[in-house]
Amino acid sequence: MNKTTHSFQAEVQQILHLVTHSLYSNKEIFLRELVSNASDACDKLRFESLDRPDLMEDGAGLEIRILVDAAARTLTIRDNGIGMSADEAIAHLGTIAKSGTREFVAKLADGQKKDAGLIGQFGVGFYSGFIVADRITVETRRAGLPADQGVRWTSDGSGAFETEQIERATRGTDVILHLRAEEDEYLASWKLRSIVGKYSDHISLPILMRKEEWNSEKQEQVVTDEWQTVNKAAALWARPKADVTEAEYHEFYKQISYDDAAPLAYTHNRVEGRTEYTQLLYVPAKAPFDLWNRDKRGGVKLYVKRVFIMDDAEALMPVYLRFVKGVIDSADLPLNVSRELLQESRDVKAIREGSTKRVLSMLEDLAANQKEQYGAFWKEFGAVLKEGMGEDHANKERLAKLLRFASTQADDGVSFDDYIARMKEGQDAIYYITADTLAAAKSSPQLEIFRKKGIEVLLLTDRVDEWMLSHLYEVEGKSLQSVAKGAVDLGKLQDDEEKKQAEAAAESFKPVLERLKTALTERAKDVRVTSRLVDSPACIVVEEGDMSAHLARLLKQAGQQAPSTKPILEVNPQHALVKRLESDDARFDDLAQILFDQALLSEGGQLEDPAAYVQRVNRLLAA
Ligand code: ADP
Repeated sequence: MNKTTHSFQAEVQQILHLVTHSLYSNKEIFLRELVSNASDACDKLRFESLDRPDLMEDGAGLEIRILVDAAARTLTIRDNGIGMSADEAIAHLGTIAKSGTREFVAKLADGQKKDAGLIGQFGVGFYSGFIVADRITVETRRAGLPADQGVRWTSDGSGAFETEQIERATRGTDVILHLRAEEDEYLASWKLRSIVGKYSDHISLPILMRKEEWNSEKQEQVVTDEWQTVNKAAALWARPKADVTEAEYHEFYKQISYDDAAPLAYTHNRVEGRTEYTQLLYVPAKAPFDLWNRDKRGGVKLYVKRVFIMDDAEALMPVYLRFVKGVIDSADLPLNVSRELLQESRDVKAIREGSTKRVLSMLEDLAANQKEQYGAFWKEFGAVLKEGMGEDHANKERLAKLLRFASTQADDGVSFDDYIARMKEGQDAIYYITADTLAAAKSSPQLEIFRKKGIEVLLLTDRVDEWMLSHLYEVEGKSLQSVAKGAVDLGKLQDDEEKKQAEAAAESFKPVLERLKTALTERAKDVRVTSRLVDSPACIVVEEGDMSAHLARLLKQAGQQAPSTKPILEVNPQHALVKRLESDDARFDDLAQILFDQALLSEGGQLEDPAAYVQRVNRLLAA
């Protein structure tokens, strides 16, 4: 194969531009990225060789070497891992495979925000070499291919790259950075060692560099032929807790998460018993941009006896804890564990249950002892945690205690415990309302009677709330009750006098109710006198077992079928507009329709025929 020229995928050009312009202040990460790629390549080889031992024919000792050629001004990161075939080199070093990254980069590139921290989230990977190099040459050969099937890939990072076939005696990859004129510091051995120490100590393969010695004749440091391991090569999670500093835990978090901020909390344990494993799990401080993608790869990496196995181990963490990052290292699973086996293994089930409980304890601890931190956590991940109410029945009660809400008494941070502690005497239900926004929830007419009586109502405005509620009926023996469903029964909270008055009002209002029912027969299932309203003329409610109007709207927005049950209209006979129904015969029908439309609007709904509503209101205004 002769030299061929290929152009980079458009997004790669964008990433190259971003990398060289935005990551300039944190240049040294290029080494972390390239060492991490080298380490991945070794992990892949180890994994593939389980089925094909012949792949290891050049030797089973996997390692990474860092070589400096001061005269040529090159820095080489060499591994004897899986390597790449020509096709793989063209595909992997010319495109961005991950669609999430691609979209995000495209957005960053034409957008305003050039946030180095955000770019860091994706692990710009190989392309970060161009921060310090004006040309990169990659020489590689895939394990298992003959020596003449090597490939040389080279590019100055400006738009195209070249490939050609070469002879290469050994499997694996050399990434050769031709340093930019002003980047001489990356030729200095001490500098490279310090970067390796900072970012790559946990890499469990040896990272080797040539030993340097003081030459007293020359009075200078000289490079010897001897190789020396420069990293600790000890997986951080495998070290005893007492030996690991907080700074090391944080640094490790950054490496596995690409998150520049420190984690909110972490937990590190060795679990012994029927199944043995180590877990090091982190809760990030900030949600990643793709938190809502339930299919994205999990943040927890599975190792078996320190050998990396896979990082989309959904089997290890429930989906609702997908924000958790970390490592689980099992002592019992076989190295060649397959995805299918993972799903069936009893050991894995035990690990998953144990790890879930650990994360919940970590959150409980935060909630109890660091309220502010927990508030920050809730803001970022609360809505995701709510998914757990339906997904994780075993931990439902613990999860319920971790939930936080807005209410008529506080804009955030209200737990069920807080609510229950504030319940009025005689109150036996936990009241809530669902709406699209906090403002809409707060101004719902259904809240009026609760406000008047000083009863707290939870205001639920996350999309996931309705779904959560379908799995949560009661907390500590107190039922959850929508203020917009069924008849309000304030039970012992209403005194006899009030009850009597309401009954009398309903009795005398009966004839009007009958007329209203007839006028609204197409739209309302029933019309009745309310006990919810104080200042508003009417409101819409649904029957106890029916789907709330809010949920029906959410489903429609999502393009799903929602049953079209008619709501109930409740009217407030004390209100002037409603009183007018009794006296204004000529406009009865207009008034009835307007009452219904307004009730619908104030509940956040949409009118089927807004123009008709406007005409009716105008007729009244002009009268
Ligand atoms: P990422 O590592 O996040 O996938 P990179 O841009 O760093 O993204 O690398 C792209 C791909 O190139 C890798 O997924 C891998 O397939 C290949 N690659 C990079 N470096 C090496 C290496 N040293 N050995 C083998 N393959 C490599």
